[in-house]
Amino acid sequence: MRTLLVDHPLVTHKLTRLRQASTGTAEFRALADELVTLLAYEATREIRVTPVTVQTPLAPAQGVKLASPRPLVVPVLRAGIGMLDGMSRLLPMADVGFVGMARNEDTLMASTYANRLPEDLTGREVFLLDPMLATGGTLVTVIEMLKSRGASTVTAICLLAAPEGLERVDAAFPEGSSPDVRVVTGAVDAHLNDKGYIVPGLGDAGDRLFGAI
Ligand code: URA
Repeated sequence: MRTLLVDHPLVTHKLTRLRQASTGTAEFRALADELVTLLAYEATREIRVTPVTVQTPLAPAQGVKLASPRPLVVPVLRAGIGMLDGMSRLLPMADVGFVGMARNEDTLMASTYANRLPEDLTGREVFLLDPMLATGGTLVTVIEMLKSRGASTVTAICLLAAPEGLERVDAAFPEGSSPDVRVVTGAVDAHLNDKGYIVPGLGDAGDRLFGAI
């Protein structure tokens, strides 16, 4: 696994507002949306393209277009839904799949409750959206699902990450193994608490995006 920490000042500025407990739902959603677009810009740096020639009003020009097959974007329900618009703004042509994961608050184990993924992901680039990389259990489970379908590269976009989660994903998908896994994040925080929350973090991302249910 490779990690890309996007420490651009605009990302850190927006992340700081996002963390603040007094930031309400409307502003939180807007900030998360903007942050995803900034992180997605970096996350798509290695996206595959093929050369094309277009005709300008003056002359032919060499350029590129996104290669086939189209990338797949997978928000992890529920909180990942809050990242989909920001990602789709940059990749409107991507297909979208969904995985629903719930965490048992006692054991901290992640289990799958919904899955709408293409059966065959051979050679496809996948962008996973999950705001909080905490224990890493969710990410490892979802990447295993993508791997069993043949995904060639998986880039996880996370607003925040914990060192424990990064280590777990790295242990499961070491650099050089398949699929090629990258984590793109706006910050790596100090640690997890005994409830599996990122500290200092921002609290429960799903609750802050959509309210506590
Ligand atoms: N999920 C969250 O929403 N927040 C955390 O800190 C950890 C997991």
